Amino acid sequence: MKTNKNFLCYPRASRLKRIMKRISGILLFMFILSACAPAPTAIPTATLVSTETLTATFASAATAHSSIVTSSPTATPVACDPLVADFCITDGHFIFARPILPPDNDSVEETYRFASTAEGTREPHHGVEFINGTGTPVHAAGDGQVIFAGPDEEAVYSPWPKFYGNVIVLRHADGLFTLYAHLSKIEVVAGQTVNMGEKIGEVGLTGSANGSHLHFEVRRGDVEDYFSSLNPELWLAPRVDEGALAISVVNAQGKFQNADFTIQSADATYFVKTYEDALLVGGENAALGLKAGRYRIALLFNGTIYERWIEVQSGKLTQTIIVVH
Ligand SMILES: [Zn+2]
Repeated sequence: MKTNKNFLCYPRASRLKRIMKRISGILLFMFILSACAPAPTAIPTATLVSTETLTATFASAATAHSSIVTSSPTATPVACDPLVADFCITDGHFIFARPILPPDNDSVEETYRFASTAEGTREPHHGVEFINGTGTPVHAAGDGQVIFAGPDEEAVYSPWPKFYGNVIVLRHADGLFTLYAHLSKIEVVAGQTVNMGEKIGEVGLTGSANGSHLHFEVRRGDVEDYFSSLNPELWLAPRVDEGALAISVVNAQGKFQNADFTIQSADATYFVKTYEDALLVGGENAALGLKAGRYRIALLFNGTIYERWIEVQSGKLTQTIIVVH
């Protein structure tokens, strides 16, 4: 069995508690043995889901369990399955450096995240914003080659000419590209090779920009396809003491479902919407960077409140799947 030692697994502690009453002590003991690492802290109870969900959870947990007890004692642990566990923590693929460096503002603007519409007032967002003053240095997110540097007089990288203003597009390994828009100054030329962290231009408000900021995109595949953009928060190295959370809200058939939800910690609450449909190109339909810590996700869907407690670790990716009915 192919496994990944970087995966950690967190059992559904609150559900296990209820399942305990339904199964024998032996089965419970065997299940606990199979459930990877223990939950780091006590997880609050009262997950408000239907009985069918609990039954389905137990059935899938039991299936996972039986595959483990038949393996040899020296077998490596089964990879965390976010369909079974409350959440899984992996290394993710944070291969890009942030294009803005401290002390400038290197945090993603929360009001207009990837694939959001700013409450319906804007086009679904194909990137993220770093709000900074004109002249703030912009750095290459990775080693690569400049494939475009200049004003977008023609509609190549978006459906509209003069949309990005002064824009730089870099090609990286593995079919990935990064795009830096609305620049006041461009300091590279097409064909040039750049290194991660190298200064390539300066923040501005050229093109379709209300204020001075860097619009940053990650694309994969056909760079001229406006819909090849991915959520940069899953590709950029998290800020100090932060990680990222990727959420999939799906129905029983695994199809993405639109939902609004809150993500709450002891000192912050985030109101999040799942992606606009046109940007469902990744394995998730919501994602954001978060400070390391524990969070409660609460989601209302068809009259049922779905609650999930998850943990975000520094420099890691937390994945969770919420199945709604
Ligand atoms: Zn933008």
